[in-house]
Formats: sequence, structure tokens, C-alpha cells
Amino acid sequence: MADIIQLLPDHVANQIAAGEVVQRPASVVKELIENAIDAGATEIKLVIKDAGKTLVQVVDNGVGMTDTDARLCFERHATSKIKKAEDLFLLNTKGFRGEALASIAAIAHVELNTRQQEAEVGVQIKIEGGKVTCQEPSVAPKGTSLLVKNLFFNIPARRNFLKSDAVELRHIIDEFHRVALAHPNVHFDFYSNGTELFNLPVANIRQRIVSIFGGKTNEKLVPVNEETEVVNVSGFVGKPEFAKKSRGEQFFFVNNRFIKSPYLHHAIMAAFEGLLKDGMQPGYFLFLDVDSATIDINIHPTKTEIKFDDEHTLYAILRSAVKHSLGQFNVAPVLDFDSDTNLDTPYDYKNKKVAMPTIEVDANFNPFKEETEEKAPKKESFKGGSGSYGFKKEKQPSWESLYVGLNTNDDEVVTTEGFSSVEFESEEVTGKLFEDEDIQLSKATTFQLQKKYVVTTIKSGMVIIDQTRAHQRVLYEQYLKDITINEGVSQQLLFPLELHFGKVEMSLLQTLKERLEGTGFAFETMEEDTVVINGIPMHVTESEVAIILEQLITDFGDDIPDSGFTQTDMLAKTLCKTLAVRGGEVLSVAEQENLVNNLFACTEPTMSPFNKPAFITMSAGDIEKKFM
Ligand code: ADP
Ligand code: MG
Repeated sequence: MADIIQLLPDHVANQIAAGEVVQRPASVVKELIENAIDAGATEIKLVIKDAGKTLVQVVDNGVGMTDTDARLCFERHATSKIKKAEDLFLLNTKGFRGEALASIAAIAHVELNTRQQEAEVGVQIKIEGGKVTCQEPSVAPKGTSLLVKNLFFNIPARRNFLKSDAVELRHIIDEFHRVALAHPNVHFDFYSNGTELFNLPVANIRQRIVSIFGGKTNEKLVPVNEETEVVNVSGFVGKPEFAKKSRGEQFFFVNNRFIKSPYLHHAIMAAFEGLLKDGMQPGYFLFLDVDSATIDINIHPTKTEIKFDDEHTLYAILRSAVKHSLGQFNVAPVLDFDSDTNLDTPYDYKNKKVAMPTIEVDANFNPFKEETEEKAPKKESFKGGSGSYGFKKEKQPSWESLYVGLNTNDDEVVTTEGFSSVEFESEEVTGKLFEDEDIQLSKATTFQLQKKYVVTTIKSGMVIIDQTRAHQRVLYEQYLKDITINEGVSQQLLFPLELHFGKVEMSLLQTLKERLEGTGFAFETMEEDTVVINGIPMHVTESEVAIILEQLITDFGDDIPDSGFTQTDMLAKTLCKTLAVRGGEVLSVAEQENLVNNLFACTEPTMSPFNKPAFITMSAGDIEKKFM
């Protein structure tokens, strides 16, 4: 049989390698900017068109290349950065594989212009799909310009896999943030479709963070500094009260290289323990300097993972350094008047407030009720029979006097001092329960089960409604309607609410502005990094506004859909998810009835907007069967 193995031609090998190195336009941006930094540039300009799908250009003022190097740099494994495998362990450059340019040139139209400081003329090289189409001398400024056009032009399948421009731009901005944060000593300028998105002058790290994430970031930062034999840690963590639901601003840099490390992330979360509400994420910008011989960055082709010799020690150091800073800068969860209302999660508050007294009320409730309703004798004898009679009798007088006291005059309440603090709390709620109880007794329509379900009867049997899902459905349909016909009712705020966001978040909010207004939001301004809100939808509280917007940003994240309907749908989903009652919230009978009526007035009452059953029914037949 004939031999069948053959060596792949270079351009095929390069295309295959490109699959690893270049996943999307953002990968090109990363590789080109890193090359510019490795070339010692102090000024780097990034220009993109159509989220990098049409054009990515990086211009630097670095060392440039000679004619020969300019030609060689597109060859596979062509690198000036390492000579032998051991060099890998002493690496101080971003790149080292010599794969990036070869890969990019294999799958795009590339144009290189470069000149070294001392050379009189530079050189221009054009490559299409790995083939050189032009090489000639050129008049170029010192440094290098690399232009990458029509990415994946020869791999339609890859091109089709690219996401919407908004998503791809988001990825590019993420990559840009990472290098820009790691190199505050480099001036970056970033244009997208002719608009300047970022202009970051040379700065210190704190200023760089602020110029990327907006003016209000400064006050949120707590410095971290720790020097040990294994590692030097520096940078900042965000104050706990500015924690977000999304994991946006979390950065680790090891020897100035951005890395992802779930393990070290965990160390930070451990340091924040007790300072954050459930599910909230702190921001951090942490720089770890370690001996480059103790790490291995070669384990991942795009080099965002890293292997440390001694992860456990790093974990411990990092955790204690962050903890120390949080303690030193007295970052307890204080209420700061200036801070935005992000801090109070209304659900948690509601849960706490409602849940606590209710437990007390339940315990105290029966004896109370027995007296007012004058059904006491019968029930009491029953209770007495259960063996607690003696105890109960002892208590009885106090209850009596308290009851009288509350109803006649306040002075008497003071005499029952030992109780007053407790009873005052419960008094309010008890009063309410009484009213509701009356309604319920007369109508007997609904009751709440385990603070989670609302049970009601129908002709054929009974319905058990999941209160959260049902409320989501009701709100969802209401907001869909409000947004579509633009009739959401707005409540004016006495004092406008000012919130701050980063560039990307702002552009998302701009996109959704009209729809948000449909729900009842009114924006005074929406400029730069500031949103001023002077009207909010009915039934939304001020403290919920920041949470809603944060949630929107999280939910939409990378994916701003192009279709208007999908945007409306997602917005309505975010709102209903954020605003619906949770499990654990006590509903008054009136609220329960409202919920039932509103749910069954919906177009799609059976399912929550997230396609979960909103209620189940149990027919009399089903129940009968249970008794068989
Ligand atoms: P690597 O960065 O891993 O060495 P690349 O394919 O990214 O591989 O680049 C190949 C070589 O081309 C680099 O080692 C460097 O010598 C040269 N080079 C690439 N970009 C630039 C630039 N902007 N300025 C100067 N030299 C560059
Ligand atoms: Mg490189």
C-alpha cells in the first residue's frame, strides 16, 4: 500500500494554528497591542471598524523592524523573544511563541509598515491569506503599524461564528482594558468607527483605573500593598459597598500580564467574607510580582492561565493582604451618605424586617386571638390538654394587661416595660393580621403557604401558585405592554438620583433609554459616565433603581440584541426578575388576592416569563385519591 502521510503545507498549518490563537477580532487586538508593548512603545493607537471585523489597526512608536525582520515576522515560530526553551522561564515579554503574526496573516489581509529609528526608509509588506503580495520601501514614522483587514475572509465558517458587533466590541474593550491597566506608563488611544472611545494619558495605576472606569471610581478604591519574599502584591480593591452583581471589574496581573485564576479569585472573596451581601462581587485590580522562574505561563495558547509553583502560599498572602487593607482603611459596611444606594438590597431588607417579627407574632398570636374572638374556652381546654396549661396560665395575666394597655392609653404600656419593646414591633403586624384574618374568614379565598405559595380554590379543586413566578408573569406582561405602547406611569423624584457607570455600561443604557422611558423612567441627563434620573416607574423604590440598572447591565452583558422586540423582552424580563416578590416574603391577604386576580388576567398565566410553571392545580378527584 502506498504511503499516505504527508507534511501539511505552511499556509495550511498556519490556518490551523490560527484557530487557536485567533478566536475573534479581540484576539487580534490583544496580539498586536502586546507586540507593540514588547517593542517598547510608549504610545499605542488602536483603530477598529465594525468591531474589528473589517479593520483592526495598531500603530506604535516602538523599535520597529528591519526589512528582513519585517518579512520574517510572518513566518511560523519566528520570534525575537526567546532562543531556547529555558528562556521561557525568564520571560519578560508578552509574546514568545512567534505564532501570532503568522496566524493572523493566514486568515486576513495584512499590511505592515515599519521603520527603525536609525533607518532612513521603512518597509511596507502586504500579505493576503499568508501570501506576500507586495514588499517595498516606504516612508513611515518610527515604529510599526499593523493593519488587519477582513478577518476570516478565507474561512467563512469562522466569520459566521462571530457575534454581533456589540458583543465583539465588548470583547475588544475587555482586552484593551487588560493591557491598558497593566501598562499605565503607555499612552493609549482607541478609536472605534471614527469615534474616540478611550484616550489614556501616561499615568499612575490609580489614575489609569479612574480614566478607564470613570471619575467616581477613585473614591471606591482601597489600596493594597504587601511585600513578601515570594510575591509583592500591589493595587486596589473596591470598597464592599460598591460591590456589584456582575463580575465586571476584576483583574489579576502577574508580572504585568493579565491572568484568570479562579483560585486566587477565591482568595479575594475569602478576604471579603462577611462584608458582602450574597451574590455581590467586589471589584479588584491586583498586581502580583513574582520571580518569573516560579511561574509557567506556557500552559495556554492565549496565555491567560498561569501555573504557580506555590499557589497555596500565594492564596494565603493575597487573602491576608486584602483583609489587612480592608481593615486598615476601616472599610466596615458603614453607611456613607455619598455612596449610591446600591448598598441596600431591598429584598434582603424586606426579608429581614418582615420575617423576624412574623415569627414572634405567630408565637404570640393564638392567645391573643382567642380572647378577642371569644372562642377561647373551647380551644384553651384543648391546649390545656396538651400539657402546657400551667405555663399558659401563668402567662395569661400579662397578656391581658398588655392587651388592655395597648387599647386604652399609652401610659399603661410603659408600665409593661419588660415587654414593650418586643410587643410594639408585633403590635403593628398583629393589627394587620387581624384585619386580614377577618377578611379571610368571611371570604376564605386565599392563604399563603410557607411564605412561598399562594393557595386558592377553584371550582374543580385547588390551585397552588408560586408567588415569585406568578408575580414575575404579572410584571412581565405589564412592562411589555408599558414599553410597547409607551405608557408606563412615572413617579417624580423630589431629588434626582445620580448614578455612575463605565463607558460600556453607558452605551448599553443609551441603547435602552427609550424603552426604559416606556416603563416610567425619566432621565434628566445621560452623559459621559453619569446618569441623572428624575422619574421612576410606579411601584419601584429609589433604592431599587441602581439594582435594576446593574441587573440590566449584567443581563444584557455582551449581548445587546439587534432586534427591538428582543430588547423589549429582555428589559421586561430583567425588571420582573428584579422586582417580583421573593419566596420568604409574607403577603397580606389583599396582596394574595391581587396576585391571583392579576395572574389569571395575564395572557399566559401558566408559565413564568422564564418558562417555569407558575401554578399547579389539584382537582377534587386528585385529592380524593390521596385519601384512598
Ligand atoms: P511573538 O510576539 O510571540 O514573538 P509574533 O508573531 O507576535 O510572535 O511576532 C513575531 C516577531 O515580530 C516578534 O518577536 C517581534 O520581533 C516582531 N514584531 C511583531 N510586532 C512588532 C512590533 N509592533 N514592533 C516591533 N517588532 C514587532
Ligand atoms: Mg506577539
